[in-house]
Amino acid sequence: MIPISVPFIDQQEIDAVAEVLKTGMLVQGKNVLAFESDMTKWLSPEHKAVAVSNGTAALHMALVALNVGVGDLVAVPTYSWPATANAVELCGAQPLFIDIEDQTWGMDPDKLEHALAQAKQKKQNVKAVIVVHAFGCPAQMSPLMSICRDYNVPLIEDAACAIGSTWNGKNVGTLSTMGCFSFHPRKIVTTGEGGLISTTDANMDRNLRALRNHGQDPLATSPDFISAGFNYRMTDFQAALGRVQLGKLPQMLEKRRQLAQIYIDLLSKKTSLGFQTPLKEMQTNWQTFAVTLPRNVQRQEIVQKLSQKGITAMMGTWHIPLIRYFKTKYGYQHGQFPVTDQVFAQSMSLPLHHTMTEENLVMISDAVAAALT
Ligand SMILES: *Cc1c(COP(=O)(O)O)cnc(C)c1O
Repeated sequence: MIPISVPFIDQQEIDAVAEVLKTGMLVQGKNVLAFESDMTKWLSPEHKAVAVSNGTAALHMALVALNVGVGDLVAVPTYSWPATANAVELCGAQPLFIDIEDQTWGMDPDKLEHALAQAKQKKQNVKAVIVVHAFGCPAQMSPLMSICRDYNVPLIEDAACAIGSTWNGKNVGTLSTMGCFSFHPRKIVTTGEGGLISTTDANMDRNLRALRNHGQDPLATSPDFISAGFNYRMTDFQAALGRVQLGKLPQMLEKRRQLAQIYIDLLSKKTSLGFQTPLKEMQTNWQTFAVTLPRNVQRQEIVQKLSQKGITAMMGTWHIPLIRYFKTKYGYQHGQFPVTDQVFAQSMSLPLHHTMTEENLVMISDAVAAALT
C-alpha cells in the first residue's frame, strides 16, 4: 500500500534521540532551547518560539494568553481538524464559525467581515480570530489581516500544517499575534507529538513560557508562579528529533513541491478533478495533497477502487459544525456553510511524501482517472 504520508526518519534522528536518552535528562532542557532557537532562525529573527507538547496545546495556550474565557466568541473556520474549535471550547468560549472560500479552503474574508460587523451590532465580544492554513496552503492573509486590524481583534494562525509555507515571502505563522505549529507525524516536521507558538511580543512570550510550565515565571531568579499554568512542555529528546527534522525541511519542501507540480500536471491532463489553489503571493508546503471530485461522484467508491490498487486515499478534513459535539451543542445544519458542505463532501487526499517517485504519480493518476470513468 502507498500510504498517505510517511515521516522522514533515518539514522540521524535515531542517533540524536539516543544521545539525549543516554544523558538521563529527559524533560524540557537544553535541546528544547536549541530547537526553539533553530525555529527562530527558520521563522524570522524577530520571532520568539515557545515549544510545547502538541499543536492543540499551542492553540489552547494562545487563547488563554489572550484571556479568552466564558462569554467570549472566537472566530474559527468551519473546515479544519476539530482541535481548532476544541481549543475555543476548552477556554469556556464559543466558536463563531466562518465558512471557507473555494480557492485556498481557508476562512472567507468577506464572511469574516460580515460576522464581525454583526457581532459588533449585537455587542458580542469577539476576543480573537483563528485562521487555518488548510493542508499547509496559506489562507488569504491580506484581507484577513486588514479586517482583524479594522476591528481590533487579535489574529492567531493555526499553522499546524503549514511549516515552510509562505505569503509574500514571509513564513506563515509569523503574520499574526501568535502562530501555532504542530509536529505530529502527519505534519512535515515531526517530534512524535509536539507543537510550538511563535510571537514577537516579549510579554506574550513570558506568559506563554509560564503557562506551559505550571505558571512558573521564566524570568524570575528564584521560583515564582505567576499564572495557573499547564504542563504543556516538550521533552528534550523530542526537541533533539525536531532539530534534525528541521535541518531536512528545505530538502523536504523542494521534493514535495516537485511532486505536487507533477501531480497537478498529470491529473489535470487525465481527469476533471479540482485542486486547492494557492494564490500567486503564496507558496504552499503541500503538507497534504487534496483534490476535489466532481459532484456526481461518490468519494467512498473512488477510495475503494484506489485501495484495490494499493493506493491510500482518504477524505480531507472535518466539517467542524457538523461533527456530533458541535452539531448537538449548537444545532448546526447542512446548508449553513455551503462551501464547506461541498469541499467536505468532495475532497480527497492522495499520497504525497519524500519516498515517492514520478512513476508512483503516473500510476496513481492513471488509477484515479480509471476510477472516475
Ligand atoms: C494537526 C492539527 C492540529 C492539532 O495538532 P496536534 O499536534 O495533533 O495537537 C490543529 N490544527 C490543525 C489544522 C491540524 O492540522
